[in-house]
Amino acid sequence: MPAASHPAQIPAQLPRVVVLATGGTIAGSAGSAASSAHYQAATVPVGALLQAVPPLQGVARVEAEQVAQIDSKDMSFALWSALAARIAYWTAQPDVAGIVITHGTDTLEETAMFLHLTQPCPIPVVLTAAMRPSTSLSADGPLNLLDAVRVAAHADARGKGVLVVINQQIHAGRDATKAHTSAVNAFVSPSGGPLGFVQDDYVRFQRAPLPAIAPLPVPSAWPMVEIVGSYAEPSRVVVDALAAAGVRGIVVAAAGNGSVHEVLGGALADAARQGVAVVRASRTGAGHVALPASARAAVGGFLSALDLNPYKARVLLLLLLAADPSLGADPVRLQARLAAF
Ligand code: ASP
Repeated sequence: MPAASHPAQIPAQLPRVVVLATGGTIAGSAGSAASSAHYQAATVPVGALLQAVPPLQGVARVEAEQVAQIDSKDMSFALWSALAARIAYWTAQPDVAGIVITHGTDTLEETAMFLHLTQPCPIPVVLTAAMRPSTSLSADGPLNLLDAVRVAAHADARGKGVLVVINQQIHAGRDATKAHTSAVNAFVSPSGGPLGFVQDDYVRFQRAPLPAIAPLPVPSAWPMVEIVGSYAEPSRVVVDALAAAGVRGIVVAAAGNGSVHEVLGGALADAARQGVAVVRASRTGAGHVALPASARAAVGGFLSALDLNPYKARVLLLLLLAADPSLGADPVRLQARLAAF
């Protein structure tokens, strides 16, 4: 049974936690405190964000690094690589208890997936964010930041891999996804729910994440992997153009349990015959896409991303193809790898 951490249990020497800031709405500001929809993301430096949360001083010795200052809609492979390098640096410092990453909510689920797949996480790596800018009434960023540091410093968070702490909930980085445009409870874990919660200084894990996996390498060269949607009356133009452009993998945001329109399916089958890895993820937002019924069906090129949404499935396919380009021509082995994470 996980223990609660009460103030009396905080050691005299507080744990050291490093905050890596990347921007987002948590660092956003608006002209008017009443505005939570019209504002500029990524304007407030991390030092000012920390100063706005005085209770942090009772939780951890916090140090901060401004790794980037962007709206996360503009996330890049270069920034993912930079984050991985800073995590490696700080993890190697003997007395760092945990790492917090402040991030925009828009693509947080992709960065969380990238870090889940690439980081060994001997110490907790915790992403946090905010739905309202720092200047708004009832800004959610300060509490989210405090809770993220509480989790990063907590012994029970060790061995749980990459975590997302937001709106008092603790999610697995693999599972967390943004499911609302503006509500502060925008993040959900559709497959199994959150791992736990934070209530003031009480950090409680109620379930374990999936078992840890051997990390995939951070690519030095990133293959082209794109997402296309299946919907009423699609054309094959996008898939044909991607194949002509040298795409290595296509994730289909498929209907329901992985259904693909016959027109799009024809184009994808042609791409698969040219060696493009084709993976179906569901556009529904929850549930597993059934595995191909047989190895023969898998060889047809229509693999399953299981419960990963199209954006998370794309990150996995990117990293798998970067690590082993031959997987694109081996759907049976690729399906096994997709199912392992
Ligand atoms: N556009 C912002 C971002 O992702 C939204 C947010 O952080 O809530 O950086």
